[in-house]
This record gives sequence, C-alpha cells and structure tokens, in this order.
Amino acid sequence: MAVLVLALSPRAQFLAGGAMVNAAYRMQDHLHDYDFEHPNATPEQVWVEFVKQNELASKVRETFPRTTFHPVVAMLVCMDARIDTNELAGDTRRNYYIVRTAGSAMSLKEEEMLELAVANGVKLIVITRHTDCAAEKAMLKPELRAQYPALMEALTERDRRTRDFLERPVIAQRIKEGKLLVKVLEIDTKTEHLGEHHATAPPGPDAEVGH
Ligand SMILES: [Zn+2]
Repeated sequence: MAVLVLALSPRAQFLAGGAMVNAAYRMQDHLHDYDFEHPNATPEQVWVEFVKQNELASKVRETFPRTTFHPVVAMLVCMDARIDTNELAGDTRRNYYIVRTAGSAMSLKEEEMLELAVANGVKLIVITRHTDCAAEKAMLKPELRAQYPALMEALTERDRRTRDFLERPVIAQRIKEGKLLVKVLEIDTKTEHLGEHHATAPPGPDAEVGH
C-alpha cells in the first residue's frame, strides 16, 4: 500500500494521505472502550489510560520521525474538542501555530502570542469563532457569568481585542506592506468549514482585513 502511494504524484500522495488519516479517524472514533468518557472512571484511571496511549503514540513517533515545517499560518481557535485544527487546515503536517482559548477569547497575552508568530515568519493569521460555542452560550446564563467573570469579560471584548491587535504597530505595518493577511472567520462546528464571520453588536471588524 505504502509503495503504491509513493508512486503517485505529490498531489495524489497528499490526497491519499488525507484519505488514510480520515480512514484512521473512522477506525478509532467508534471504539468506546478506549475513550475517557466512562462515567465511573476515576481521575486516576483516566490518567493511567492517558499515559498508556501517550507511550504507544510516542513509540510510533520514535520509530517513524516526522518532518519539521516552518509555520506560515497562525490560528486562534476555541478550545472546543469538536474542532480538530488539522481538519480545519486539511493538512496534518503541523505547519501551523495554534492558539486555543475558550471562545477564542483574546487578551493582551494572546495578542502578543500572535505577534510572536508573525515575528517567526507567519504570513496569514486566521482568527476564528465557531457555531454552537459553549463559552458563548455560557454568557447568556447569569449563574455562569457570575462563576467565570474574567472569561465572560474576555468574550465580551473579543471584537475590540481584534481591532486592537490589528492596530499593533508591527501588525499594522506588515498588513500595509502586504506581508501579512488577517482573516476573521467562523467555523461550522459540524463540518469544520470556515466561512465568513458576521460580527454581532458591538460592531466588530470587517470580516476581511489586509490584502
Ligand atoms: Zn467554543
């Protein structure tokens, strides 16, 4: 099988690799004996399973090392486990910087992280929100607003933070010079399709910024 795939064109190999990754997801997704969702599992049992799976995975990586890439794309994505950033990019090769926070909340430190990624060669920043976001839903519940005040405040100011980020001198300069593109997009959580984000009140940035 591997020999057959390597005989294909680079494009065909890329697609065949993606198909095989998808086949692997399908093989694993339904194996509930191996997931961490057992209601009676203790934290210790979850930990033991977690370590066991890491040992297996790291042995595979030791045997089959992977190529290192230099990222040119950085993404800000919600920490929601339904979103797989490899699938978002349609590419499993780790050539992305990923910042993940609940609800894609951005504070000054996330702004700095993204600017650091730019300093390291990033040419495209994709700031995302996603449908059916639990963090956004929590904002509507007074008891949760009271329990997580800092997070709620961070979610409220996402649009402003995005504007602040675009106005940072390094970022604004790179955009002006055509060396950086920043997109604000919405992920369909079911399909992981990236579409236009329609900002809600207060008015947010344009869905497309830069060139
Ligand atoms: Zn979310």
